[in-house]
Amino acid sequence: MGIRSICLRCIGDEPARALAATRATLVKCQYCKGRRRGVGVHELSEIIDDAVRTYYGFGGYELKFDSDNDSTYEEPQGDRLHDVLESELEVPYEAAVDLALELMENDPADVADGEEVFYSDTQSYSRIDLPEGEYGERWEEFSTRVTHERRFFDEGARELLEGILGAPKSEQAHALPVMEIGPECRIKAIYRARRADGRKAAEQIMTDPRALERPPKELAIPGRMNAGGIPVFYGAIAEKVALAEVRPSVGSFVITGKFSVRRRLRVLDLSRIDHVFTGSIFHTDYEGRASRLRFLEGFHHLIARPVQPHEETLEYIPTQAVAEYVHNVLGFDGILYGSAQTGGVAAPESGDRPYVELRELTDEELQLFNIVLFGDAGSSVAANDTSGLAFEPAATDSHRVTKVSFDYEWTPVGPGAEHPDLPF
Ligand SMILES: [Zn+2]
Repeated sequence: MGIRSICLRCIGDEPARALAATRATLVKCQYCKGRRRGVGVHELSEIIDDAVRTYYGFGGYELKFDSDNDSTYEEPQGDRLHDVLESELEVPYEAAVDLALELMENDPADVADGEEVFYSDTQSYSRIDLPEGEYGERWEEFSTRVTHERRFFDEGARELLEGILGAPKSEQAHALPVMEIGPECRIKAIYRARRADGRKAAEQIMTDPRALERPPKELAIPGRMNAGGIPVFYGAIAEKVALAEVRPSVGSFVITGKFSVRRRLRVLDLSRIDHVFTGSIFHTDYEGRASRLRFLEGFHHLIARPVQPHEETLEYIPTQAVAEYVHNVLGFDGILYGSAQTGGVAAPESGDRPYVELRELTDEELQLFNIVLFGDAGSSVAANDTSGLAFEPAATDSHRVTKVSFDYEWTPVGPGAEHPDLPF
């Protein structure tokens, strides 16, 4: 075991590879058989030991409810050690198994003395929840500040957003996940729906389907991502989601309209914000990223949540401020975000953070997302050459809702029950 080596090329995770590179010599790689710069597997286990111990804990159990016999049971959470190593380091499976063995053999815990070993092949592991860090609690602070104290961008609020999303042209802003939509992109068209109270109202919209466009500025009421008087386009990637977003009841009418995207638009892709922000546990700024992620999760969750009837326009101010920064300061045309109506976005978790595989959304998953477009990008006024959208009258459809489905989860309440932050 001790003599096995792995080359730098077989370590896919960049920060981990950079750490290994500082101790690399010419080796014969056990896994790709190449002769190039690399390290011993034992050495690599020493290099990664600290980060794995710091950012991983035992998987634990989640309480589940078995409806067949009305009882609760514990379901183990987390992954086996070698699976964790394989995905964190992006190394070949065999290398991950060898590394796991190295870590287990060299675990300094004195079992005879009653100490518990950290590395074991019978344990399961999950990334641990980090302390809130610099930005973790600042969503609340930020909200209070812009809502009740200074309104919009005073120096402090702006600095905070700069710290999280980056200043224009900064490395941080550059690292934000971008999706391009428009001609020759995955998303070529978006949908918008309107609810009609009864057949008559539906007929009226059908005769003047331009009512599906975003409102003119005189009629623009404040929303999650726009102040009153500033119209933005709220749409969905799929017709069905657009329909669900207006939350129709059974028997009501909904008219849906299609808008093709006329030019390339750059949108901030919140569907990938978690992957990009936390990234590798071997990155020197991992904790900083995790902390910024907390803030953005708070933002994402809030904008994905359906508007509540009791909500006052004051509650929109923090999300409006972030949207304004994304559009006016960073120059994005819009934001892609989850739809709570279709389960597209989960509430921020307070427990263990599962490892998220770094990948693009599948087409099917992408269908669950919503989009907001700012400025000219969200306009479909035909005379305006810079408008980002074109309304397609022929694709307008009327629907009568025949059934509404919903999901629910078992949630204990009352004395003794835990009270996680529920999304609604
Ligand atoms: Zn290799």
